[in-house]
Amino acid sequence: MKAIRVHRPGGPEVMELEDVDIREPDEGEVLVRIRAAGVNPVDTYIRSGSANYTPACPYTPGTDGAGIIERTGRGVRRLREGQRVFVGGSATGTYAEMAICAESQAHALPPKVSFAQGAGVFVPYATAYHALFHKAHGSPEETVLVHGATGGVGSAAVQIAKAAGFTVIATGGTEQGRQMVKNQGAEHVLDHSQSGYLDAAHELTGGRGVDIILEMLANVNLGRDLGVLAKGGRVVVIGSRGPVEINPRDAMSRDATITGMLLANSSPREMEAIVAALEAGLESGVLSPVTGKELPLAEAAQAHRDVMAAGAYGKIVLIP
Ligand code: NAP
Repeated sequence: MKAIRVHRPGGPEVMELEDVDIREPDEGEVLVRIRAAGVNPVDTYIRSGSANYTPACPYTPGTDGAGIIERTGRGVRRLREGQRVFVGGSATGTYAEMAICAESQAHALPPKVSFAQGAGVFVPYATAYHALFHKAHGSPEETVLVHGATGGVGSAAVQIAKAAGFTVIATGGTEQGRQMVKNQGAEHVLDHSQSGYLDAAHELTGGRGVDIILEMLANVNLGRDLGVLAKGGRVVVIGSRGPVEINPRDAMSRDATITGMLLANSSPREMEAIVAALEAGLESGVLSPVTGKELPLAEAAQAHRDVMAAGAYGKIVLIP
């Protein structure tokens, strides 16, 4: 089968399309024919060996994907051959025509959700859900600021928060992206490329401030985030690409909490709750991933450049 392989850490160009063998699924595993693979920023950090990641070369990148179960190993009970699934993690990597997954890594994909959409589910939606409910302990009467709502995690967060009843203020850097976020149900959409744009968050909450901020770029925003929080407000740091200076008094005066998170640190019980919520949301249709760009698998390098560029619009997926 064809798969993207990385033999040494480096820039996007180290990803090459090669012919590789795929093994049969062991006990408790399934073989998935990948129809679309989701591209996440973390895939680029692992590939380049940055942000404390060390790639175990050679390897095939990719955590997220969607496809059809080709074969099941012994003892697999929940999944059957021919079933449509979305995948969150695998033993072999999802930037490939096939992937071996543990049964627990593959989940039912309803017929109304395309494979491209399915490839955009796991990391973005699980991260957004974990941030909003397990880390911020959000409650539906609250106001949440999704700071960077045009990308994979942000657009997922807007959908999840709206479905649960939160008031959503969202930000985006392009007109097209902001329109998409508005279409997802955000009440107010601000332009994070304009100076002073967060002043509106005060006005939009009647001077109270926002209860929760889901932050995609803390190294740029965290200092200013603290100034727009309501009393008892929480910032969940989902993404950060460097250090930042804050004034701790802004947190003190509000009894504010700053919480970092990594989806990989979620407990098995939290993951069970996340998967249950995502499956139900996809089934009911309240969760519907936005796929902005579909590229052939051979263009994985371009996809990695695109996912790190400004002007996000939902998910970028690779089609084997
Ligand atoms: P993405 O699809 O590439 O989206 C990036 C987002 O950041 C876009 O909405 C972009 O908006 C926004 N952004 C750019 N400049 C900004 C600014 N000055 N202020 C606020 N937002 C800004 O990436 P993603 O998959 O959504 O992931 C977002 C971040 O979370 C990444 O850093 C990723 O590594 C991280 N992440 C962390 C976890 C975790 O477990 N902690 C899990 C998943 C992702 P425009 O392009 O419209 O300007």
